[in-house]
Amino acid sequence: SVRVRFAPSPTGPLHIGGVRTALYNYLFARKNGGKMLLRIEDTDQNRYVPGAEAYILEALKWVGIEIDEGQGVGGPHAPYRQSERKEMYRQYADQLINSGKAYYAFDTAEEIEAMRKRLEEAGADAAQYNAITRLQMTNSLTLSAEEVASRIANGDPYVVRIKIDPKQDIRFKDIIREWVVVHASTLDDKVLLKSDGMPTYHLANIVDDHLMGITHVIRGEEWLPSAPLHVLLYQYFGWTAPQFAHLPLLLKPEGNGKLSKRDADLGGFPIFPLQWTDPSTGTVARGFREDGYLKDAVVNFLAFLGWNPGTEQEMFTMDELIQAFSLERIHKAGARFDITKAKWFNQQYIKQLSDGALAASLQLTVDGSTSQPQTGNGKSIDLLKVVHLMKDRVTFPQEILSEASFLVEMPAEYEEAVVASKWNADAIKAITAYVEDLKVYEGDFLAESAKAIWAAAAERVGVKMGKVMQALRLAATGAGHGPDLMLAMEILGKDEVIARLEKALE
Ligand code: GLU
Repeated sequence: SVRVRFAPSPTGPLHIGGVRTALYNYLFARKNGGKMLLRIEDTDQNRYVPGAEAYILEALKWVGIEIDEGQGVGGPHAPYRQSERKEMYRQYADQLINSGKAYYAFDTAEEIEAMRKRLEEAGADAAQYNAITRLQMTNSLTLSAEEVASRIANGDPYVVRIKIDPKQDIRFKDIIREWVVVHASTLDDKVLLKSDGMPTYHLANIVDDHLMGITHVIRGEEWLPSAPLHVLLYQYFGWTAPQFAHLPLLLKPEGNGKLSKRDADLGGFPIFPLQWTDPSTGTVARGFREDGYLKDAVVNFLAFLGWNPGTEQEMFTMDELIQAFSLERIHKAGARFDITKAKWFNQQYIKQLSDGALAASLQLTVDGSTSQPQTGNGKSIDLLKVVHLMKDRVTFPQEILSEASFLVEMPAEYEEAVVASKWNADAIKAITAYVEDLKVYEGDFLAESAKAIWAAAAERVGVKMGKVMQALRLAATGAGHGPDLMLAMEILGKDEVIARLEKALE
């Protein structure tokens, strides 16, 4: 049965592209009744960033990607953090050495540098440690067996390198890219085990995918160049390789090149799922969550970055995505990171949320403050009603409060163009009559009553209501456009409305 894994390296905050990789793995696992694993690939200790692993777990949880087995959950192949599996990898390196597929190399950094220089001067375009150059270096292929044994016994530092047989084509069928064929002579004898005893990414990744029974490796296109080496390693070990699916790149919004943090900064949008504070510099990077994106919108947006269902349907819940998903419908071409599409999804999901859920989310996100907004005359504003009033007009939840600031503050000025075109004798007559009628009205002041009283007042003084509607809005809010005016007046309350209209009439 299907077993897939998400295998991030904790070298910083998870990029939104990493979340897409995790999502596609998850959808594929669920679609096929398989298992989703999470493995932390932390063998490169120089690049380890504290807090990154916790960030990864939190980000996956936020978008709703459930891990069946792995870091944070446990399972039969624990530990799932590679640094804790360090000792185990050595035996696999030894296995390759014993079968002549790998060798010890004792070269110092200076010797390797000298080799590079030599080759560069001789005009080689890439200075590689390979079938030709290895013969001039200090390794178990050029030293005697006694010399190798004594160096190791002495504690001399060494690495283990794969011994690539250059006279062959390496081929495999990628589910998305079809046949990939690479000549082995273009590969170099990559380090498998480092001098500190840690495996490199390549060794640890292959050993773990094999031991953990991974059936499909679904990962970003940036790993495609490593895949031939991985395929060769599976051959050398005598293991069946999993199937590969390399996902398309995420491109800049304009489509010209790979998406980077800089594009996000220039475009004013986040490329991390959650806000991240760099532990060494204190720099804060924006997150989709903190910017007010709903997780359902992010999932829907990411699902479409490189895949489509082949139908017109755009809105998908996670369950619907699971039903519709297939690796065969993933594109080869890079996917443009179109943030306007993400915003569109957010608007749609905001409209779908209940007023109560949205109001609750606002109280969590509004600068952490839960204080009740109030009108100018100190009346508490009903947040539920404000949400209802503004929901269809915003892209982000927090805009509900910022766009509704006219409820909190008396108009300080009035939109000039509207004053010029709509503030006339009829308007003044109707609004004056409305104020009179409001003052004697004793019932509940709801949107319907506000409207009925307004209609009656206009009729009483012989003015067509439609002609003076915008003037009423201007007097009550200061602006010529905005959300449902009658509901806005209900939220303001009768006294506040009277005060505002009287001020406008002054
Ligand atoms: N640790 C690698 C990463 O950070 C995993 C690549 C893979 O999936 O093989 O993306």
